[in-house]
Amino acid sequence: MECNNISKIHDCYGCGLCSASCGKKVISIELNRDGFYEPRINEPDKCTNCGICLDVCAFNHEERALKDEEIHIKSWAAYSNDEEVRRKCSSGGIGFEIGKQLIEQGYHAVGCRYDIKEQRAEHYIATTVEDFVQSIGSKYIQSYTEKAFKKINRKGQKYLITGTPCQIDSFRRMIRKFRCEDNFILMDFYCHCVPSMLVWKAYIKMLEPNIGKVTYASWRNKFDYGWHDSWLMGMDGENTSKPVDWHDSYNLLIREKKTYIQSRLSQGDLFYKLFLGDVALGPQCEKQCKYKYDKSSADIRIGDLWGETYKDNQKGVSALVAFTAKGREVVEGLQNVTLVEHPFEVVAEGQMKQNAKAKETRTAVMYLLRKGFTLNGVVFKIVLFSQRVITKLKSML
Ligand SMILES: Cc1cc2nc3c(=O)[nH]c(=O)nc-3n(C[C@H](O)[C@H](O)[C@H](O)COP(=O)(O)OP(=O)(O)OC[C@H]3O[C@@H](n4cnc5c(N)ncnc54)[C@H](O)[C@@H]3O)c2cc1C
Repeated sequence: MECNNISKIHDCYGCGLCSASCGKKVISIELNRDGFYEPRINEPDKCTNCGICLDVCAFNHEERALKDEEIHIKSWAAYSNDEEVRRKCSSGGIGFEIGKQLIEQGYHAVGCRYDIKEQRAEHYIATTVEDFVQSIGSKYIQSYTEKAFKKINRKGQKYLITGTPCQIDSFRRMIRKFRCEDNFILMDFYCHCVPSMLVWKAYIKMLEPNIGKVTYASWRNKFDYGWHDSWLMGMDGENTSKPVDWHDSYNLLIREKKTYIQSRLSQGDLFYKLFLGDVALGPQCEKQCKYKYDKSSADIRIGDLWGETYKDNQKGVSALVAFTAKGREVVEGLQNVTLVEHPFEVVAEGQMKQNAKAKETRTAVMYLLRKGFTLNGVVFKIVLFSQRVITKLKSML
């Protein structure tokens, strides 16, 4: 019999909503051999072929859950008036302010933190503002969502859900399917793509002989060089500092943290080179991202407001877009933030309109990553290989 489930879905968004929606709890989310999350059916005999996993899967549908006619855009430049929050967050700290203020109104906020034990980004449920501090800052790797999404109580409790646009599109499908949309506010962000987790593992493998087992990772930091040059990896390990205790007070956590390794994109940081160089992006991001520019299933979208208007600002300004009336209501009710309304083209200036395209070297990079090379090993081999090709070509001319 033909299976009416996600067993045939591969290289998908890995959003985890199939697993969270499965009444029989037979789906788990695991990394595939290329280092991207995808579903597995563990006990096929228990599957009743109800098809819910396919219904909620955004990857399985050409159309986004939120139809174009439901979208009424209003857009702002935005930032937190709390200087500490603004300094610590990736752009203007508006993502954190939205979560903080909704938590104060009784919502639970589902965000993404870095799990030191598992060395991965993962979604979790914050019920207090202190808890939500861990979500501050972009983690430029794919997030593991399964455990958190499974814990969400679809009836009764209200939630803010933050995530990549594909995670949010599936989430919208799920809450429509289970008729509980009123309890949810969905927030996504402008998303370049996610790189393979093999890149992240190879980066850690490269650093650990120096710093010991990683105890802290942060992706953006404006303290030293400002917002525009904030592409800075901050890493600490057992040899360099004590682990951060997330149960410390809010003020302590928001503070500046100096890390042992501060590796900048502008100085050739290898993680950013591979991530932003599009040599290890997921096939799903390249071929099936349907969420660029003004395409979304979220109520609210955040991002960096790159572009002319704020090019001299070094503190950080968020792009903030409300796609729905619910999103607009949340934004217009925010306290302690600065909002400047601009046309969408101004707010979205510099954002991608097309999907990222993999570079020719992707196949070779992924091969070396699968073989377990460290990140500098991968780059060394690729450079060596390119030089050999150039020398060969020259000798032929
Ligand atoms: C993989 C990735 C690609 C991005 N690409 C772009 C881009 O092309 N253009 C652009 O303008 N902005 C991009 N962003 C968003 C940007 O980096 C900032 O997150 C955004 O500007 C919000 O910043 P903030 O100061 O409001 O708050 P922050 O405190 O930085 O808020 C970050 C929010 O994002 C969530 N989050 C962090 N990491 C992840 C993750 N891995 N998966 C799911 N949710 C996560 C957190 O829960 C938090 O709510 C990207 C972010 C990620 C994670």
